[in-house]
Amino acid sequence: GQLGSEQPGVVQAHYGATLAIERPEDGQVFRCYQRANLPALVTGDRVTWCAGQDDTGVVVACEDRRSLLVRPDLRGQLRPVAANIDQIMIVFSSIPATPLALLDRYLVAAALSNIEPVLVLNKSDLLTVDDPYRTYLADYAALGYRTLLLSAKAPLTDTLVPELRAKTTAFVGQSGVGKSSLIAQLLGDQEDIVVGEISEATGKGRHTTTTAMLYHMPQGGDLIDSPGIREFGLWHVPEDQVMQGFPDLQAYNGQCKFRDCSHRDDPGCALQAAIARGDVLARRLDSYHAILASLAEVSGYRRYE
Ligand code: GDP
Ligand code: ZN
Repeated sequence: GQLGSEQPGVVQAHYGATLAIERPEDGQVFRCYQRANLPALVTGDRVTWCAGQDDTGVVVACEDRRSLLVRPDLRGQLRPVAANIDQIMIVFSSIPATPLALLDRYLVAAALSNIEPVLVLNKSDLLTVDDPYRTYLADYAALGYRTLLLSAKAPLTDTLVPELRAKTTAFVGQSGVGKSSLIAQLLGDQEDIVVGEISEATGKGRHTTTTAMLYHMPQGGDLIDSPGIREFGLWHVPEDQVMQGFPDLQAYNGQCKFRDCSHRDDPGCALQAAIARGDVLARRLDSYHAILASLAEVSGYRRYE
């Protein structure tokens, strides 16, 4: 059939072959299909689309992605989930106590996805004066990471909100740390409104919306959220790229006496020396080794497939 003229759009959600495309100029959402020659489009993709004669349009082009978040499907195949996320808020808390190794895993995943991480210690109202989690947060700040101390029980206007403007953000972190509480406060009743629009655009209801969704936050900035994104993890990482999530360790790369140094008890290990001097945190190297070990385990299983 006849197509209208080309116009810009953003993928707000997708359901199999059906895309909900938002027109930036007026925020209207249109149901679209994509041309077969395009890669599988995901929430956050910037596209060019044309209106069709009925109420269904066609996406004809996709812009290069600034970042791409992937996760494996049931067969272990990596699938794109969301594009163009600028930053992930890695939320953690003292209750439940988040293992620091988990934060380090998120940092590796963020580095490899080309997404800037922000370490967000939530539930500040539950922290004691000399709580070790205050030190953990300060340690990450000292490593050069952006950090935030928050309570979802308090207004976020002067803390979280300014960090979200003019950016696309996702929230990750273990269950119970307060992601839903923070997001609910940021979105207000937006969540229901957007889901309603999607339902109209796609003919599908709220119950099927497990896909990633793009929201505009009333106080500025975009949010991409889904249950899968909140559990975003270190799915598949080549061993030699793990170091990218550890800039503090990477600084000593190549300075060990032996080129194949395992950074454990090898003589002349520059990392062990840095730890002994107090220039590197021992637990960061422990995390690094733990991540490598867990990756070796996964690839061990893969060999039997
Ligand atoms: P999620 O699993 O990460 O989405 O965590 P939720 O948002 O569901 O929060 C888990 C529990 O922690 C709920 O009972 C929240 O009310 C509570 N909670 C979340 N944020 C805070 C906070 O900043 N302070 C306190 N005291 N409780 C919080
Ligand atoms: Zn070494």
